[in-house]
Amino acid sequence: MKKILIVGAGFSGAVIARSLAEVGHKVTVIDSRDHVAGNCHTYRDEKTDIMVHKYGPHIFHTDNETVWEYINRFGEMMPYVNRVKAVTGNRVYSLPINLHTINQFFSETLSPNDAKAFIEAQSDKSIDEPQTFEEQALRFVGKPLYEAFFKYYTIKQWGTEPSNLPASILKRLPLRFNYDDNYFNHKYQGMPRNGYTSIVENILNHHNIELKLETEYFEEMRSDFEYMVWSGPLDAYFNHRLGRLGYRTLDFVPFYGEGDIQGNAVINYCDEQVPYTRITEHKHFAPWEDHSKSICYKEYSRACDKNDIPYYPIRLMNDKKLLGQYIDMAQRCNGVTFVGRLGTYRYLDMDVTIKEALETADALLHSFENSKKPKAFYQTVI
Ligand SMILES: Cc1cc2nc3c(=O)[nH]c(=O)nc-3n(C[C@H](O)[C@H](O)[C@H](O)COP(=O)(O)OP(=O)(O)OC[C@H]3O[C@@H](n4cnc5c(N)ncnc54)[C@H](O)[C@@H]3O)c2cc1C
Repeated sequence: MKKILIVGAGFSGAVIARSLAEVGHKVTVIDSRDHVAGNCHTYRDEKTDIMVHKYGPHIFHTDNETVWEYINRFGEMMPYVNRVKAVTGNRVYSLPINLHTINQFFSETLSPNDAKAFIEAQSDKSIDEPQTFEEQALRFVGKPLYEAFFKYYTIKQWGTEPSNLPASILKRLPLRFNYDDNYFNHKYQGMPRNGYTSIVENILNHHNIELKLETEYFEEMRSDFEYMVWSGPLDAYFNHRLGRLGYRTLDFVPFYGEGDIQGNAVINYCDEQVPYTRITEHKHFAPWEDHSKSICYKEYSRACDKNDIPYYPIRLMNDKKLLGQYIDMAQRCNGVTFVGRLGTYRYLDMDVTIKEALETADALLHSFENSKKPKAFYQTVI
């Protein structure tokens, strides 16, 4: 049985720790923060007693049976359907863009077939093979909807013109020609009754797991362990030797009110002159609870500086080139596996994070049993 160090107590680190601990390995999990659950952390706000999603709204959704069973093993998932609204041009619409949005926006009463033909007539057919986000939107959505719902929201979110972003961001057609306003298409969707932090605490609650919070990784720690799993930023592992991978960071500005402030958990603000991207009203994530007061977060996106929390990997050409170089370095390392959204520099939903963490743990155990060198990455990263 090995002594293993896991850096990061988010879903990646916790799930791998649990799998290794259950077969008898001695696992130490460290995190520089004063709480577990990484960016999925939730806490009860002191003034309102509302469960707040500290690092932005998190809705659990998946098609994966194994992952759904796993999350339910460690916490009670309550039924929850994410329905997002969008404000553009001083009017409120339903997202993802669906028949209701189209009919409201164009003041029409179109049927699904009529709406398809109507949108098709607006699409820019001169664009054969869209390369950029903007071309993809103009080709499949048409100019009016693109400008109202995507253009300025995207500029605010990514800090760059949509013509600089790859078409892949908008690859799946973001339009529905029916009245379905469920934001996600997955079979399972829910919200943990006691928050995500309680779930991760339960995952980590095992006699073979030692948890150390407010503990930043430093290299000398390594000598006490036979193997390490790294879910911190890939470039930080190498002290940013080749430069920094680009991220967007978020600022959340809280405000309070009585009763119901906006009537929905998440409302996006698509207009250029509104500086924030969305407002989250946290009480709506727990409709089974009753609170007289309310807390909202205004969300602002900006370039990530070296002391900021990295949220969204940018992954433009330069970042991908740098990523390739860091991957080469990582693959030459011994005794460490890189996982998770930061360790592999990808956007990962929670269900994908859990799935990959379970697969990584299986693969590690297999390597340990067969005395093989574990891989630095078990997933395709680029
Ligand atoms: C704004 C936003 C909204 C999201 N909404 C959803 C959603 O609705 N649904 C969904 O499924 N997913 C959502 N996600 C994705 C979700 O946050 C990730 O899937 C999840 O956080 C990945 O977990 P992780 O363990 O890989 O990383 P993290 O949660 O980031 O955990 C990594 C941990 O490592 C620690 N760490 C890093 N470096 C060090 C170091 N040197 N020493 C010690 N500790 C260190 C960090 O403190 C952190 O706690 C969202 C993401 C964002 C940014």
